[in-house]
Amino acid sequence: MTFISMDDITSAQQVIAGIADQTPLVPSPFMTEHCGGEFLLKLENMQPIGAFKIRGAMTAIAALPQDVPGVTCFSTGNHGRGVAYAAAKRGMKAVICMSSLVPQAKVDGIRALGAEARIIGQSQDEAAFEVERLCREEGFVDISPFDDRHVIAGQGTIGLELMEKRPDLETILVPLSGGGLAAGIALAAKTIKPSVKVVGISMDRGAAMHASIKAGTPVEVEEFNSLADSLGGGIGLDNQYSFEMCRDLLDEVVLVTEEEIYRAMQQLYYEDRIVAEGSCVVGIAAIMSGKITHVKTPMAAIITGRNLDMNMFTQIVSGQDLRLGDTVIKGQPYGL
Ligand SMILES: *Cc1c(COP(=O)(O)O)cnc(C)c1O
Repeated sequence: MTFISMDDITSAQQVIAGIADQTPLVPSPFMTEHCGGEFLLKLENMQPIGAFKIRGAMTAIAALPQDVPGVTCFSTGNHGRGVAYAAAKRGMKAVICMSSLVPQAKVDGIRALGAEARIIGQSQDEAAFEVERLCREEGFVDISPFDDRHVIAGQGTIGLELMEKRPDLETILVPLSGGGLAAGIALAAKTIKPSVKVVGISMDRGAAMHASIKAGTPVEVEEFNSLADSLGGGIGLDNQYSFEMCRDLLDEVVLVTEEEIYRAMQQLYYEDRIVAEGSCVVGIAAIMSGKITHVKTPMAAIITGRNLDMNMFTQIVSGQDLRLGDTVIKGQPYGL
């Protein structure tokens, strides 16, 4: 099935040492009480770029020859930040291509990391064409956000860290988009402990991996504005790694609504004092809404990133209604 092995993940761990942090794994008393057993949070929001993507990007860029003219990618933001950061660490030029749906805070963040941010079109697919052109005409190397063996191995180091620290884990909740994160974590964790359950969670509108697993082959889905904006985008019709790995290694894939994500963002803030993107709280949202079958503890949720628009976040924590593209999420103060 897979061309990626545990050896790739253990060598990635050495490559990223000193660049990506071994993030804390902390208990959530509120979720522990709710689940009746230990619930842990893996704080990837504490990484230098504010998200786990630094792991995969550094692993992939470290594997390149020094003489490539530059690296590029299309990204909803965090992968772009990871590539920008890792390229700077290696003294390489980076051009990050993204769609106009990407929040301004993420665009600014990438520019601050020293990379060029190029805005193209309304969807990640259009941004992907510009990446293709840069590679074809200027010799850049495209770093895939999820469908690359080095990227998957890099993200998999999270699974390694989890199981090294807590070999007794029974369930891991992983936000799911292109599936590089879930594929890497599932491979690492299940190699160490085959009985551990790994659950992927996405938003219910535009969940490409969920639709693809259901269809039995990679399919395209319409894109929507979502509080979980880091989970948007397709998995690629020519997907080589992450589709098969997620199909074969995930025990369950669950979808949550925008309202459930909204409430989980409030909860993580008020109960655990953590500022996190909508994309990070989908696991908590799925547990709170009773959608997950594998609720065996100890359980860990990956808090994947913190790069969000703070105006939107303050609206959410104060319980205001929120406009998202063509829909309005009805807000209410936390605890009511
Ligand atoms: C990229 C990303 C994900 C999803 O990772 P995939 O490998 O695409 O499934 C989840 N959360 C955040 C914050 C991300 O940036």
